[in-house]
Amino acid sequence: MKKSVEKDLKKIEEKIEIDFKKLQFTEKNPNNNENMLKPPTVIKLLKINKRKEKLEKDLDFLEKNNLTQYNRTDPDAKLMVKPAHNLMAYNVQIAVDGKYKFIVATDISSVGQDTNQLYNMASKSKDVLGQEKMNIIADKGYYNTNEIKKCIDNNITPFLSTPKYKQPKGELFTADKFEYDEEKDCYRCPNNQELTKASFTQDRGGRTNSVYQGSASKCKNCPLREKCIPAKTACKRIYRWEHQKMLEQHQSKMETDKAKEIIKKRGSIVEHPFGTIKQTLGWTHFLVRGKVKVTGENALIMFTYNFRRLINLIGIALFKKVLKALKNGNIEAIKAEIVAYIAMLLHIWVYFLGRIKFYSYKEEKLSFRLRDTPFEHLLRFS
Ligand code: SF4
Repeated sequence: MKKSVEKDLKKIEEKIEIDFKKLQFTEKNPNNNENMLKPPTVIKLLKINKRKEKLEKDLDFLEKNNLTQYNRTDPDAKLMVKPAHNLMAYNVQIAVDGKYKFIVATDISSVGQDTNQLYNMASKSKDVLGQEKMNIIADKGYYNTNEIKKCIDNNITPFLSTPKYKQPKGELFTADKFEYDEEKDCYRCPNNQELTKASFTQDRGGRTNSVYQGSASKCKNCPLREKCIPAKTACKRIYRWEHQKMLEQHQSKMETDKAKEIIKKRGSIVEHPFGTIKQTLGWTHFLVRGKVKVTGENALIMFTYNFRRLINLIGIALFKKVLKALKNGNIEAIKAEIVAYIAMLLHIWVYFLGRIKFYSYKEEKLSFRLRDTPFEHLLRFS
């Protein structure tokens, strides 16, 4: 990181300055016996100087290449901010199907934030699944109005909540205090003044916004002025994105109970593969370096997860049948058998869940009871 290089360099320069003063002092006072004022040995001075040269070289490299960070081991890896600790890493993206928890799309990004990943992952999944329409659930970190727009344009319905920004106390009125009148295409302020469209502007994200402006004379004499605009501003301005209506429709849809229920399912769907990959399969780090190689290793990891998931779902015997069917081109013939097999597994799973609840309530020994339960019995109970 450029900041830490600058900090270390400053520390070393300060240390060199102190050592230099100590040398001057010893020259003037050759009989000095105070340990604190003794200058460092020549070897130590050479070491410090070498370290300083190295840091200067690093800083020069970062400045010449206009970089704020650089990883010598893997230049493609970037600093990722995590709740526990920050680390140099890649941002692994996966899209998981909600029914069987297969990974349908994966990608590697060198950017720590997920804000530009929603459409990338959604469109990849849509292509893989070959669907006309699709729902995608993501967490708040993916919230980006441009990405939401791209998804909706491509028949993908995104389900993600809008991040809520807390307004600090004493701050000015927020945009939601100004009501939009679609018919008149203007905003109405808390003092009932109409803010009309005055110009257009483009923000840093490349979005075109209309600028709605109030009258300076009305704002000047308004009793709410202090709460509305800074002292030196003549009149109020509101910026409205050209696709704001689409965004508002999306936001009101996210407020429905149905949408909230769908969003709640996200964690249990997508964290399942991550949990299995890290805890069960033990892949917590990439073994290769460089984005191209890491992309390959990541694809292998995700493939292995999917393969394991498939075997867990249909078993080895049925998997062999699937391979034969694929070879002979008659996969349709065994589709019904696969569905029946999975349905049976689900029945058993539901039965076990019910038993776990029952035995934990009765505080009896679960392992003994389950071991002695005959298979047919399980099916009847489910
Ligand atoms: S300052 Fe202007 S925009 Fe704000 S509330 Fe008063 S009249 Fe309305």
